[in-house]
Amino acid sequence: MILIDKVQLTDRFMRYVQVDTQSDPESNAHPTTEKQKDLSRILYEELKQMGLEEVETDEFGYVYATIPSNTSKTNIPVICFCSHVDTAPDCSGTHVKPILHKNYDGADIVLPDDPSQELKKSVSAYLEKHIGADIITASGKTLLGADDKSGVAVIMQAAQYLVSNPSVKHGKIRIVFTPDEEVGKGTVKIDMKKLAADFGYTFDGGEAGSLEDETFSADGATIIVNGVIAHPGYAKNKMINALKIAGEILAALPKNEWSPETTDKREGFVHPVSVSGIAERATIGFIVRDFVTAKLADHHNRLKKLAEEVLDKYPGCSMEYVQQEQYRNMKDILDQHPHVADYAAQAIERAGLTLTKDSIRGGTDGSRLSYMGLPCPNLFTGMQNIHSKLEWIGVNDMASASETMVHLAMIWEEKG
Ligand SMILES: [Zn+2]
Repeated sequence: MILIDKVQLTDRFMRYVQVDTQSDPESNAHPTTEKQKDLSRILYEELKQMGLEEVETDEFGYVYATIPSNTSKTNIPVICFCSHVDTAPDCSGTHVKPILHKNYDGADIVLPDDPSQELKKSVSAYLEKHIGADIITASGKTLLGADDKSGVAVIMQAAQYLVSNPSVKHGKIRIVFTPDEEVGKGTVKIDMKKLAADFGYTFDGGEAGSLEDETFSADGATIIVNGVIAHPGYAKNKMINALKIAGEILAALPKNEWSPETTDKREGFVHPVSVSGIAERATIGFIVRDFVTAKLADHHNRLKKLAEEVLDKYPGCSMEYVQQEQYRNMKDILDQHPHVADYAAQAIERAGLTLTKDSIRGGTDGSRLSYMGLPCPNLFTGMQNIHSKLEWIGVNDMASASETMVHLAMIWEEKG
């Protein structure tokens, strides 16, 4: 029986979310905002106080720590648990005022600092599962920051449990907290040598019991259109405007399929994200997504052909098609190490939850880490309505996530 201290866990979470750690997509610094280090320093101090070893924080805002092995077995792989300290740029993270709703009664919740923000059970059906239990919301003017301070609190509380319960046997455990996940740079300055872990888990997911071992594979594509330029006063039968051709290419994209707004589940898509240029030369940026990495080539071919058909109408003009790799489906890696997700599934079940396996229609730090040599699926924390003022989380879900982490540590030891 693993008893996670929910009072301590709640207290941790409520403290962490009050530290403003919003990251900045416009910044080229590492971390993208200095304030993220405010939380990193707090975590550093708390990990030291807890008695963990190799506790470090660096100039980039990463925090590393070790829970040393306490088993006589010497062949247990080093397992890493990871979450991110930053919050999303989409919604203010300044002066977050978390509100603990004890014994949630099932009623709709009006957030006090902006009564237009109403958390409704009719919209957020998952609230139903938390009636009679404690939930935490923000106050109406900011996000809550459960994404991903719930992950941070979950890992910290499980670490506390492990150091306080030496009878629970486990191998060497590494903990890493990363900055800048929300702006796609969470792994840019991570020191994989220093981390020195064999397998990892991020705690950065939603409903209790969910395990995500699959992400999109992602490419970028750029179409550059070269028109024919002339003085606009004397351009008759000479000028061909690249901006207008770019417009035609966009108009030629299908309306009922092959886009984010017309696909879900396991369907891939192509999505224009930017247009820029002058009459002489125009550039369209796309993102290309699919769960099956090999299908990315089909999407590129289709897009290129569609653009070429438009260009065929304009002799004298030309186009370039450039593709860039962005990230790859973590499943391609995880399938080579099936026990990593298997053990997570077992841990979730030991924590008394129903396992749900999901695919992420996006990327995570875990997909990047998986390709950097650390196979790394994603686990739930309970976070809901993320990146918004209506973000909330149930305390029971966070406690279940901590419990899952403890079970995972035990399972790796048992199998070793
Ligand atoms: Zn997150």
